[in-house]
Amino acid sequence: MSTASPQNIDAPDSRSVRIVWRDGHESLYDNRFLRLSCPCAACVNEWTGERTLREEEVPGDVRPASWHLVGNYALSIGFSDGHDTGIYSFELLRSLCPCPACHPQGR
Ligand SMILES: [Zn+2]
Ligand SMILES: [Zn+2]
Repeated sequence: MSTASPQNIDAPDSRSVRIVWRDGHESLYDNRFLRLSCPCAACVNEWTGERTLREEEVPGDVRPASWHLVGNYALSIGFSDGHDTGIYSFELLRSLCPCPACHPQGR
């Protein structure tokens, strides 16, 4: 299975990040949701997969301060709360897409 990759990434407003994928799909992520979904070792227990990051530790107005591509498979995001170790693979980002087409049952 080929993994979709982003064609464009931008911040349409102060609350969200938008990714337009090469297949034309568009994903709009809430900043805080993205931060809370961080897959790094500081946020998720590598052995159990359990999320150790607690929601109350994340400021309500957190936002990505910077981001850059890692190779051709992931996006590294540095957040305004100083957390910059999160590497979001395109696969993960695509699976996090909150749109109704990706999650018909809602989540
Ligand atoms: Zn993290
Ligand atoms: Zn989607």
